[in-house]
Amino acid sequence: MAEYESPEWHPAFEEYCETIFELNEDDFDVIQARIAERLDVSRPAVSEMVKRMEAEGLIEAGRQITLTEAGRDLAETVVRRHRLAERFLTDPGAEIGDVLLDQRLAAGIGNVYKCEALFVCGVDPHAPLGSVAPETRRRLYETAALQLQSNLGRDRRVTFGDGLAVYGRHRQGCRACGTGLRSASSGVHGRQTWWCPKCQAPVV
Ligand SMILES: [Zn+2]
Repeated sequence: MAEYESPEWHPAFEEYCETIFELNEDDFDVIQARIAERLDVSRPAVSEMVKRMEAEGLIEAGRQITLTEAGRDLAETVVRRHRLAERFLTDPGAEIGDVLLDQRLAAGIGNVYKCEALFVCGVDPHAPLGSVAPETRRRLYETAALQLQSNLGRDRRVTFGDGLAVYGRHRQGCRACGTGLRSASSGVHGRQTWWCPKCQAPVV
């Protein structure tokens, strides 16, 4: 992902590239109105993002919008990730924290954003996959990817307030509710995991 590290980078680029790719795949004319409809955003918002992405070299915008080679690469990466996610996320007994670390699915997310995304989405790291709703799984993955993306090139990782919410905050209080954070090495990967027992309570 490093090649897209640029001050102009916006996390929505991925979403737009994916949408353009899929519209194209489905044989639709790729016009701004249709992107707006698919993404449920306003036309001025699409127009603005199209300008930024064109400047970034991800698309060429005429009446129809086409992906450049770089845009296509990005779209294919994102599409592959999402499709893999949907296929791989099927072992109901696997711990969700472990699933997020799986390289086939979450290339590059790593343990930090695993912990942080689980916190943001309020999910117990030990929850069996089968107990986590599909839309929550997707949100977890997208949250982690967004956190990762927005921290590219930063010296200090920020996901919550001015730092991290749970990762590495040994025996400290939860930033949201004040409850003492817990940590344990968990899952088949045996990675240290931090979580708030209240905000991320097991679903019974
Ligand atoms: Zn909490």
